[in-house]
Amino acid sequence: MNLISNFPPTAELQALDAAHHMHPFTDGAELAAKGARIITRAKGVTLTDSEGEEILDAMAGLWCVNIGYGRDSMAEAAARQMRELPYYNTFFQTSHVPAIELARKLAEIAPGDLNHVFYASGGSDANDTNVRLVRHYWAAKGKPEKKVIISRKNAYHGSTMAGASLGGMTGMHAQGGLPIPDIVHIGQPHWYAEGGDMTPEEFGRARARELKAKIEELGEDKVAAFIAEPIQGAGGVIIPPDSYWPEIQRICDAHAILLIADEVICGFGRTGQMFGSQSYDICPDIMTVAKGLSSGYIPIGASIVCDEVANTVAEAGDFNHGYTYSGHPVACAVALENLRILEDEKLVENVASGTGPYLAEKWRQLAEHPLVGEAVIRGFMGSLALTPDKAARAPFAAETGTIGLIARGHCFENNLVMRHVGDRMIIAPPLILTKSDVDVLIERAVRALDLTLARIK
Ligand code: PLP
Repeated sequence: MNLISNFPPTAELQALDAAHHMHPFTDGAELAAKGARIITRAKGVTLTDSEGEEILDAMAGLWCVNIGYGRDSMAEAAARQMRELPYYNTFFQTSHVPAIELARKLAEIAPGDLNHVFYASGGSDANDTNVRLVRHYWAAKGKPEKKVIISRKNAYHGSTMAGASLGGMTGMHAQGGLPIPDIVHIGQPHWYAEGGDMTPEEFGRARARELKAKIEELGEDKVAAFIAEPIQGAGGVIIPPDSYWPEIQRICDAHAILLIADEVICGFGRTGQMFGSQSYDICPDIMTVAKGLSSGYIPIGASIVCDEVANTVAEAGDFNHGYTYSGHPVACAVALENLRILEDEKLVENVASGTGPYLAEKWRQLAEHPLVGEAVIRGFMGSLALTPDKAARAPFAAETGTIGLIARGHCFENNLVMRHVGDRMIIAPPLILTKSDVDVLIERAVRALDLTLARIK
């Protein structure tokens, strides 16, 4: 096998990178000062950097490499499709085999009557599609004023204008004049940080009822949809109390509000079922998918749409929307191979009943560490809250600095990729993780936590 293994020395690459490459979500000055860690190869759950260090990737890249790295059959699927038909579009009454086969497969595995697929290149633009789709749907039903979309504070739905507006990240809204009109936000079901004296169940219900209050404030005739991640990922792996989703579902049904489940992270096995909606008994009208759809091997996203919305839109004439790469044949072929691997190797089962329970047991034990206020996990999505005061569930004082950032640095030095969101530490490993990988992960995480504790004492 030919690998691309020749590259300039690390320092030279870092200097070129800082000089010419603008990175997403990165402090440019810090990048120039420190230099990026340059990843050159990956296999299974392990990354290799330009210095030959081997790193356990407990984030599956950006929550996406569900089948693990280095799968030859994925490369072969791409090469086969490139030779056969490298590109054709799906506009203006044309189609092709990979787009048709993948749509059929997604309709088969998606819950309920989510039988129709509109392709995008990733999660952000799939959510842009959703905004236009739900507004167009209500207009086609004779209700053009029903166009507000309710989302949640601290949600993440992407980086495009609509995606970042749907998201509830204040740091993103502060750049570029967001949110765009007719997108509003309610509170998140983040009991640990915001639940006060309520029990998690009381708090979950209270936060769900903010949706009802918001619909009543705006008027049901103005609200098109509610969008949410089954488990908030980029917000810090916020696992909602069990009372939350049933109440949200009831409210959406009672008020004729479309429910969009953003499954970009939760989808394709991460929660222990194929979709997070199945783990929480949610019946969405639309699901946003990306990431695990191709395990990140190639960019692809989609909106999976229920019969009622898709049929109404189809009968309303042209939907004036689409991307050059909607249903890209190579991306669809790669996604099909990814779904084959996911099913044939029973990777969702590995999350539910293989490695998953062992990971959960070891992860929850981290709550005994003096720095950890809670250690929560569902499937292969886990988070730790770092705290100076466990009983009070207190955050660190601003002058202490971002302790999560310090902990993340120690993880990285110890060849473990974990992410931080403020003072929450996160994992979302590839679904191929084994029990011995878990042991390595936990051992490195504990070492990083110990070093962090020593730093702030
Ligand atoms: N929605 C969710 C829940 C996500 O986590 C992300 C990315 O992290 C997106 C949407 C955006 O997807 P993309 O980065 O592929 O545009």
